[in-house]
Amino acid sequence: MYSLRGQENIPREVLRLKAIYPGSFDPITYGHIDIFERASKIFDHVTILLMNNPRKRPLFSIDERLEMIKESTKEFKNVDVKVHTGLLVQYVKSSSIKIVIRGLRALEDFEYEFEMALTNRQMCPELEVVYLMTDLKYLFVSSSMVKEIAQFGGELSKWAPPFVEKELQRKFRR
Ligand code: ADP
Repeated sequence: MYSLRGQENIPREVLRLKAIYPGSFDPITYGHIDIFERASKIFDHVTILLMNNPRKRPLFSIDERLEMIKESTKEFKNVDVKVHTGLLVQYVKSSSIKIVIRGLRALEDFEYEFEMALTNRQMCPELEVVYLMTDLKYLFVSSSMVKEIAQFGGELSKWAPPFVEKELQRKFRR
């Protein structure tokens, strides 16, 4: 029997296990892709939740980010993408999905995620966060890093898909 608060009596084979992977994805990198690929093997369905992070000033508009995520997920049958404006807990409260995926790289991620998870839990006790560890080769990959490299015309093929690299080049050419 699978157990998640409020769903204890639903057999695991009936309950489809779904998760939300929130982030600002500005832009999506191979680090993000590695995490949702891992999540898609664990969960029956993964919703990438595209949000704005008030701590960050985005380079790409929501529509531009959405297009890049759609392109990155098109091969994945059980991954879709939704846009949300507002707090993650507001989305979780209004949704039947209560599991949130976050990716972990270095120690700084842990500190930030720890703070976020405990704050979110105060507001929405049924929310559970599952952390997935990145592949070693993406340990230092971040959206900020790819933006910096692109700004100076550096090579991005190891860190982001070709269509993301193209969008970055277009942005910085302007
Ligand atoms: P946010 O602004 O919400 O932190 P990001 O797009 O920066 O959104 O990140 C979304 C999630 O993806 C976070 O959990 C972050 O830790 C994770 N992530 C980003 N890059 C990587 C990476 N290289 N490896 C593993 N997880 C990553």
